[in-house]
Amino acid sequence: MTSGRENWKATGQGAGKMSVRELPASPSVQLGTLKAAIFDVDGVLLASPHEHAWREALNGITDPNLFTTGMYQAHVAGKPRLAGARAVLQALGVPDDGRLAISYAERKQKWLEYLIQAGDVEAFTDALRLLQTVLSLGWPIAAASSSKNANDMMRSVRRECGQNLLEVFDVNVCGRDLPRGKPDPAIFLLAAKGLGVPPAHCFVVEDAPSGIEAARAGGMTGLGVARHNDAASLRTAGADLVVTSLDDVAVDELAEGRIARTPA
Ligand SMILES: [Mg+2]
Repeated sequence: MTSGRENWKATGQGAGKMSVRELPASPSVQLGTLKAAIFDVDGVLLASPHEHAWREALNGITDPNLFTTGMYQAHVAGKPRLAGARAVLQALGVPDDGRLAISYAERKQKWLEYLIQAGDVEAFTDALRLLQTVLSLGWPIAAASSSKNANDMMRSVRRECGQNLLEVFDVNVCGRDLPRGKPDPAIFLLAAKGLGVPPAHCFVVEDAPSGIEAARAGGMTGLGVARHNDAASLRTAGADLVVTSLDDVAVDELAEGRIARTPA
C-alpha cells in the first residue's frame, strides 16, 4: 500500500477535464468523524464511455440522439446493466422495453468493451488530487462502482511509477454481484466493511443522485461532484456537500475529519 501513496500523474487524453462553475459557500457539515473514503468510479474518477456506449447501442432501436446526458444521469448512472437498459428504453418510451432490454444491454456491453479498448477512458485530475490527499492522510480508500467494467478501466490509468489506478485502493468492490444496485447502500456497506471502518466514519464521493442516496442510506457522508450542472439533484438526493470540482474540498478540514468547501 505504501507505493500507493506517491504522487499522481494522470494519463489519457483530456485528463484535466473538470468543471469550473462555482457554487455558493456552505458550512462544514460533519463533526470531525471521517477517517476513510469510498470513491465511485464512473463520473468521479473516470470519464468513462458508458454514456457513449448506451447511446451507440440504441442504433436500430430508436434515434440515439434522443438519449441525453441528463437522461443518462437521471435514469442510468450507477445502475446494473440490465436495470439501466430497461430505464433507458422506458425513458425513451420504446414499446416492449422488457423484451428489448436484454439485447440492448448486450449491445451496450459490446460497445463499451470496444470503446475501452480504443482508449476512450479519461481520468478527472481533480479526483486524482483528492485521492492523493486522502492517501497522504493515511486513510484507507475503497473503489465502489456497480460496473463490471470499472476494473478494466481503472487498469488503463497509469501512474509515473507504473502503478495503475486499481492498485492504489485498499478495497475494491467494483462489479460485485449484489441483490440491489444503488440507491441501495449494499455496495458501500460492503466497502466500509472491507475497510474495517464504521459507515459513520466514511465519506463517499459520488456524481449520481442514486449514489448519494445509497451513501446516505448507509449512514455515510455523501460528497457530490456535479460535473453535469446537476448540483440541485445531488442536493435533493441528500448530499452533505456538493462541489463542481473536487479541488473545492478543503484539505485542512478533511485532515480534521470533516467535509467542507474551501473558503472563497
Ligand atoms: Mg458515477
